Amino acid sequence: MIWYPYQQMKLMKPPFKVVDAEGVYLYTEEGNMIDSVSSWWSVIHGYKHPVLNEAIKSQVDKFAHVMLGGLTHEPVEKLSDKLAEWLPGDLDYCFFSDSGSVAVEVALKIALQYYVNRGDWKRTKVLALTHAYHGDTFKTMEVGDDEDYHFILEAYGEKKYVINISTEISAMEEAFEKYHEELNCFIVEPLLQGAGGMRMYDLSFLKRARELCDKYDVLLIFDEVATGFGRTGNRFVADLVLPDILVLGKALTGGYIGHAVTVANHRVYQGFYGDDPDKALMHGPTFMGNALACSVALKSIQLFEQEDYMAKIRRIEEITRREMEGFSDERVKEVRIMGGCVCVEVYHPEHLTGYQEFAAERGVFSRPFLKYMYAMVPYIINEEELVQVLDTMKAWFRR
Ligand SMILES: *Cc1c(COP(=O)(O)O)cnc(C)c1O
Repeated sequence: MIWYPYQQMKLMKPPFKVVDAEGVYLYTEEGNMIDSVSSWWSVIHGYKHPVLNEAIKSQVDKFAHVMLGGLTHEPVEKLSDKLAEWLPGDLDYCFFSDSGSVAVEVALKIALQYYVNRGDWKRTKVLALTHAYHGDTFKTMEVGDDEDYHFILEAYGEKKYVINISTEISAMEEAFEKYHEELNCFIVEPLLQGAGGMRMYDLSFLKRARELCDKYDVLLIFDEVATGFGRTGNRFVADLVLPDILVLGKALTGGYIGHAVTVANHRVYQGFYGDDPDKALMHGPTFMGNALACSVALKSIQLFEQEDYMAKIRRIEEITRREMEGFSDERVKEVRIMGGCVCVEVYHPEHLTGYQEFAAERGVFSRPFLKYMYAMVPYIINEEELVQVLDTMKAWFRR
């Protein structure tokens, strides 16, 4: 018996059963559908990509996996070299793990220990945003702020080690003034908060965050598990404002295998480096640096570069703006567009009840949540397919 995610199992409708998938299409027993969710935003090259398939096949004939404790291998070396060269600034030190949540845990652990290694045991608090989502493990839930995902933490009473602030500069300045001596890091999903409701905010906030982190000696962490690899219309938001630690996941492997990476800059790495074994980072996921994952991730990045994915994403944004222009409905609170993400926020979750079935009947797989109907399409989508996705979203309100 499968226990499905985010579901009351007793009330769950049977999920669509996928038998094959290619390009933007899911072939299910119930019919063919364009995947407008890119399998939780990860399948940026579409399904069954020949180059990515080949990367996995050739590696699996050598070895699928070896542990990274005491062993290393070419795929993980090549990927970390590539990331060091490809990512901005001196974000050069790659700690691999098997999921975004774990990679965020690693980032938070690094931030805490960075100060402990200096003998500063008082910096136990994390600054984070309201409506933040950083994963479903316990520390990431605590750092997050979304009653729908994290309500269970209420059992513990008030949060002791996390302060959540809005994306207003004044709120951030106040928090830094009040708490800076206790803060080890400020963690954000930069520009676009995904699971917390596709909320978009201004770059000026991040620029000010960088200044305040410098002023008060607090580490800035960008959780780009969702925003990385072009989703906001920027390759990485880290290209615009440089964090001290960058977390990547989801699209890292083109959606082929769960893998993630926590990338630290030189200063953070130096905080652990030295002759004292007690200052080591004590972490090591069993499947970190998995050879299949690293092989496919490397090819995914090469495709991203060689086939000018940033241009593809600009085109998606252009078409989306054109198609959504003038769209409104009394049930719609706001339409938000950024890069390869479009979100239609309605006033009440009931306004979206039945939308998934409606979309499926029109050949589109969608997974609205709460008050948010959205699309985050694979970047290889063509114009006709994208228009079909957007038309389906609009048609729901014209029934
Ligand atoms: C999905 C997500 C995570 C968690 O990644 P998993 O691989 O599901 O553990 C963390 N942060 C952000 C911003 C995400 O969107």
